Amino acid sequence: MSEQSSTGRGRKPYDYLVVGAGFAGSVISERLASQHGARVLLIDRRPHVGGNAYDEKDEAGILYHKYGPHIFHTNSDMVVDYLSQFTDWRPYEHRVRACVRDQLVPIPINRTTLNKLFGLDLETDEDAAEYLASRAEPVDDIQTSEDVVINAVGRELYELFFQGYTRKQWGLDPSELDKQVTSRIPTRTNTDDRYFGDKFQAMPLNGYTAMFGKMLDHPLIEKRLGADFRDIREKADELADHIVYTGPIDEYFDYRFGKLPYRSLKFDHRTLDEEQFQEVAVVNYPSTDVPYTRISEYKHLTGQKHPRTSITYEYPAAEGDPYYPIPRPENQQLFKRYEALADETDGVTFVGRLATYRYYNMDQIVGQALATFRRLDEKRQAEEPRETAVAAE
Ligand code: FAD
Ligand code: UDP
Repeated sequence: MSEQSSTGRGRKPYDYLVVGAGFAGSVISERLASQHGARVLLIDRRPHVGGNAYDEKDEAGILYHKYGPHIFHTNSDMVVDYLSQFTDWRPYEHRVRACVRDQLVPIPINRTTLNKLFGLDLETDEDAAEYLASRAEPVDDIQTSEDVVINAVGRELYELFFQGYTRKQWGLDPSELDKQVTSRIPTRTNTDDRYFGDKFQAMPLNGYTAMFGKMLDHPLIEKRLGADFRDIREKADELADHIVYTGPIDEYFDYRFGKLPYRSLKFDHRTLDEEQFQEVAVVNYPSTDVPYTRISEYKHLTGQKHPRTSITYEYPAAEGDPYYPIPRPENQQLFKRYEALADETDGVTFVGRLATYRYYNMDQIVGQALATFRRLDEKRQAEEPRETAVAAE
């Protein structure tokens, strides 16, 4: 579309500078280019697109996830319809085991978990519900991640499955974390051992990076990888009228109010000379006697056939790339101060997990990015007649 110049836009080399080529930045770039005919410069400081969902083949030729296992699941038809323009899907239902008392048992806790761990013979949902009710310690006002679990399953199961894992993962006790963290994990009385309950559960058939490749394959999107916004921010105004920023919000404002806490991870990727390492894609290690939180084996996710197998150990860390916003009230308060600044900053749109400081899954980020695009679209429609009139003068 050539309407840029007729609207008076287009004097700068790009209409939009998009910072970050993860789900948030890539979805917005694709929408702006394909729906608005906008010229987009998409930058990322990493040498690749895809953000934390990036996958690639390792030296053995096995597809692995550089930043830990990413499993796609959603209840949103809109998100599935959108992404399906860029990928086919491999049906995959995620299953996780927890290594507890030297046994591998299903997590989320279900009837099988209880029977295996405690040598019980609970036969029905009602049996399991009764058993859990006898152990649960009701909490009237559920606030923290400890409250959620103690209320559902009682202290022993809480300590076995949640307390150690959470202390390792977040460097905090569950009592210090918002309830949303452990609320991600349900408790079941049936024998459903799937990790997620969403109606759509699948992996992009050829991987995430291939999907991003298609999404960003548009003549109006120029990608610059290994490019840090901090190095070009002085010139940003000359490049484009509008910035879409998907990096850490505190970094954008030079940590004016102090650093927002993020949790990081160290990934230890290994390739083994065996065809299969473990029975499911992910095994969690809740005990604090073990320094890592989980081991993932990618061939379960990808369905790849290979005589060898690649796995990743995850070691939580205080320092390093910002992976997880840490949900607790004081952090939310600090974020709100940055958000107020963001609201006052004309010409910049903040979107994504790091810029909105929310513990969001991939599908939620796609939904957030599509909603953000709709707002930009409405704004454009409101401004367009005026711009056209000015251009015609
Ligand atoms: P990101 O993917 O973080 O992308 C932001 C990009 O911005 C990065 O590539 C970064 O390099 C770039 N950037 C930042 N600052 C700058 C700058 N100054 N200049 C240039 N570039 C910059 N979700 C699921 O749905 N299922 C899962 O199984 C799942 N597993 C996960 C496992 C792990 C270990 C982690 C950490 C996350 C997982 N997630 C999962 C969440 C998922 O990764 C996020 O929801 C999603 O990737 C967020 O996309 P985003 O674009 O907001 O952020
Ligand atoms: N969790 C736990 N034990 C487990 C699995 C999860 O204590 O075996 C807690 C932990 O605090 C974790 C949170 O539940 O951070 C959310 O788990 P999820 O698997 O959703 O974490 P993610 O995949 O986002 O790292």
